[in-house]
Amino acid sequence: MKYIFLDMEWNQAVCKEQTVNGLTGEIIRIGALMFDEDLNEIARHYSCVIPKFYKQMNKNVGKLTGLKNSAITYGMSFPNAIACFVKWIGDEECIILTWGSEDEKIMRSNLAAYKLTGVKLPEFYDVQRIYGNKITKDNKQYALTAALGQMQLPTELPPHNALNDAIYTARLAKAAGLLSYLPEYDVISGEIEEYRRLLSEVYYLNIHENCSRESILKSDKVNDCLCPVCDIKMKRQEFIFHKDNCAVSYAECPEHGEYYIKLKIKECPDGGVSVTRKMKILTPQNRAFYRAKAEEAEARKAAQLVGG
Ligand SMILES: [Zn+2]
Repeated sequence: MKYIFLDMEWNQAVCKEQTVNGLTGEIIRIGALMFDEDLNEIARHYSCVIPKFYKQMNKNVGKLTGLKNSAITYGMSFPNAIACFVKWIGDEECIILTWGSEDEKIMRSNLAAYKLTGVKLPEFYDVQRIYGNKITKDNKQYALTAALGQMQLPTELPPHNALNDAIYTARLAKAAGLLSYLPEYDVISGEIEEYRRLLSEVYYLNIHENCSRESILKSDKVNDCLCPVCDIKMKRQEFIFHKDNCAVSYAECPEHGEYYIKLKIKECPDGGVSVTRKMKILTPQNRAFYRAKAEEAEARKAAQLVGG
């Protein structure tokens, strides 16, 4: 069994009109490292690919990779580059390891765009998933350089270069022992999918009562936030009103993580009050917003005390 660490760079269309159906990125660089079973490096592969669809360097891609327009005018055509890559991989049993799942998607879409249906590649495994599930244990997607920093590994090479990022992926996988979790890959993947599904899910609750705004805001229905997964009452932060009718908070289930909570209060024409509560997985941005608003509220209170 051999391990191939693969990273690629791809160009994108410069405008919407130029976009070829199904092709979000066209491969311009392929970088790969080959390791034996004991994780000793045995070979390297690097190729420059001349794009056929997106011949003009996209501004953002150019900024990220440091590649100029002239850098995509030399090398090989994609069919030749892929033939070289397949030959380099050889016949021995192996798998391809990448950081994130984009490389596999891009590879498949490029093969399809070039109608290279006969090309057989080894199975892809996304080690970023293993890292998020087993090392940071939060199922998040960390950028390669961020993960290297967390593991206190050197980052002496310029990133967003296909070969360098393949080197970094291999370095990280080795240091964090990521390949030892490959037998559990399907379970890990399942947990990641579930986390992403939860992340996109929004839980709504609407309460309408014929009472005052004060009493509805004191009611258990509004205040008790149950975990959407296990239904336990979560420990919640104070609601902070950042507008007259809008409040934010967050709550935590020890098992299923933190949820961001938004309240919208509306006084209805019939004399009643309506409260809509929206709950979703807390993001770092949500937490920062909550903290900023809590500080503002604190400052207002202090100013009132001084003034009053
Ligand atoms: Zn829970």
